[in-house]
Amino acid sequence: MKIAVASGKGGTGKTMVSTSLAASLNGQTSLSFLDCDVEAPNAHLFLKPNFTVEEPVSVPIPEIDPERCTRCGRCVEVCEYNALAKIGDRMLVFPQLCHSCGSCTLACPEDAITEVGKSIGTLREGQTASGITFLNGELSIGEPMPTPIIREVKKAVPKTPLTVIDCPPGASCSVVTAIYDADYVILVTEPTPFGWHDLKQMLGVLKETGAPAGIVINRDGIGDQAIEDQLAALPLPILMRIPFREDIAANLARGDLLTEILPEYREAFQSLYDQIIEQTQRSAT
Ligand code: SF4
Ligand code: SF4
Repeated sequence: MKIAVASGKGGTGKTMVSTSLAASLNGQTSLSFLDCDVEAPNAHLFLKPNFTVEEPVSVPIPEIDPERCTRCGRCVEVCEYNALAKIGDRMLVFPQLCHSCGSCTLACPEDAITEVGKSIGTLREGQTASGITFLNGELSIGEPMPTPIIREVKKAVPKTPLTVIDCPPGASCSVVTAIYDADYVILVTEPTPFGWHDLKQMLGVLKETGAPAGIVINRDGIGDQAIEDQLAALPLPILMRIPFREDIAANLARGDLLTEILPEYREAFQSLYDQIIEQTQRSAT
């Protein structure tokens, strides 16, 4: 079972929920945790794994041999991402725009293109003291393409009965890459107009993936009744509410899990998991 924890925007408490969910279920089942928020991975600050593997993630980028190239321009025509240009007699490659699709290499009639690896970030793997297999990816500063790293993190995960995925914020293609094969998606939101606006975007993404989903409301109590009414009208269950409290924010900033700050939430996360199992079984029949 793969459970993805997503949010339409950053700062809603997605990592707080995913790490405490993992900590609460660990022991009950063997578990892997993937931090796919590769532009700002921080779940390791809460679960504190001991990293034993660190390797670069590379993507293939075309390199044009000027001796073989006839400047026919075919590669420029097939590139959907404007990553190639022919300026006068010169061929230019813009690696930052390249999506490593390989079309130019296939299209070149002169075999003038070779794909060379370009490092865009790092993949790390380790174990927490309590035995959770932990993986994260980190995109290098200045690199624009998070999805290849997310794919590598997901490829590297060992088969465990339960995988918890901490998704990137937003509703972009990196989120789709993180959740596309999830069996269940937890959407973390806050009861504010901003939270509601971004949640609606995530609901649009979920329509495409078709995964069953439920909502966790963080900072419960800061919204007004209008937002509550809109949330209640959604065809998704509200799985959990986490109160808006200053002590939670202060202790999270020190790297404490929510279940360490409010130990009663360990049981609440276990019952949240029971709701997920029930919902996925229902949607499978
Ligand atoms: S398709 Fe090949 S030969 Fe034609 S411009 Fe591109 S690299 Fe040169
Ligand atoms: S690999 Fe794809 S995206 Fe990159 S330059 Fe070639 S055609 Fe363009």
